[in-house]
Amino acid sequence: MQITNVKIIVTSPGRNYVLVKIETDEPDLYGWGDATLNGRELAVASALEKHIGPLLIGRDPDRIEDIWQYLFRGTYWRGGPVLMTALAGVDLALWDIKGKRAGLPLYSLLGGKTREGALAYTHCGGQDFQEVEEHVRAAQEKGFKVIRVQVAIPGNVGTYGVGGAQEAAAATWGEGGALPQVERWEPGAYLRTVPRLLEHLRSRLGEEIELLHDVHERLNPIQAARLAREVEPFHLFFLEDPLRPEHKESFRLIRQHTTTPIAMGELFHSRWEALPLITEQLIDFIRCDLGHIGGLTEARKIAAIAESYQVQTAWHGPGDIAPITHAANVHLDTSITNFGVQEMVFFPEITQEVITGGPVFKDGYLWVTDKPGLGTDVDEVAAARYPYQRAYLPTVRRADGSVHDW
Ligand SMILES: [Mg+2]
Repeated sequence: MQITNVKIIVTSPGRNYVLVKIETDEPDLYGWGDATLNGRELAVASALEKHIGPLLIGRDPDRIEDIWQYLFRGTYWRGGPVLMTALAGVDLALWDIKGKRAGLPLYSLLGGKTREGALAYTHCGGQDFQEVEEHVRAAQEKGFKVIRVQVAIPGNVGTYGVGGAQEAAAATWGEGGALPQVERWEPGAYLRTVPRLLEHLRSRLGEEIELLHDVHERLNPIQAARLAREVEPFHLFFLEDPLRPEHKESFRLIRQHTTTPIAMGELFHSRWEALPLITEQLIDFIRCDLGHIGGLTEARKIAAIAESYQVQTAWHGPGDIAPITHAANVHLDTSITNFGVQEMVFFPEITQEVITGGPVFKDGYLWVTDKPGLGTDVDEVAAARYPYQRAYLPTVRRADGSVHDW
């Protein structure tokens, strides 16, 4: 069996996605992968089209590990978000082919089911505490047992996690298309508001619903330690991404001050970035993005390392990676033993018109279908109806005008 063609599709059904189709010399045997990197889509598409695709022609698609090593180590210049997203797109397409060829869903090839469904969490944001509470109650009605809560911060502009799906697409318009929206953020008001939000929710909703909160890597070490300690009485499921990904050693400071569980990892691009946090047990949940860390091949190794250190998984599951990566998440969740929770979104109809299949949500859990491979497909005719539109994630500046992490 040989790879005969690598096709890259950039499509924008609701938002931009980069999709990778790997075709083989066997009739109707192909795989789809997702290589979407929000705000830098065309850099990944170009890397795949110009550099990586030609390296795959004539190779045996069954040799996933060898192709992974060849693309990662065989090129000398390696790693980083663009190349690891491109590699993830190839990796997922190859696993899809392997599953289809075997006639088995991917979880079966990964060792089979260890659970029936993957516990899922959704996002609830609001302009004030009351609105967040109403959104949490609505999510509970849908069956969610774990919910991420974010609230608008007084004096800040465009708080992360409050605007829902529109937020990521938010943009101002400059010459030639969209430019990033500029938000304003100050840590003081944020640090005062979040513990009060959680106090409000616990007093109204009780202890049974699991709540979590995403800091989005915006705090410095002592601020993160303070927040984690002050929210301790409200028993978070976890506090997500408290620090920037460069500063692994700073997680020790958080650990010294609190028993609030910590999750980290959506900005990591390799297992070596995750390694010290896992082996020193500085986090409780590793939440790498399968789409930005080289795909299933790398993520299952990270999961296996984490298992040895009692760290659970919480793979990144936002709307800016395609349903193909969400499917890969849930196949992995379903087969590993140290699964913790799965972040999820409901994709709009327009996205499902182009990318079909994927996990199914039922009563708080995500379920993969028994279709061979990843269980997703792409309607190429529909994809062509939605051409790429330049878009960016927002950027953040402090009140004094200086750049801050988004
Ligand atoms: Mg996050």
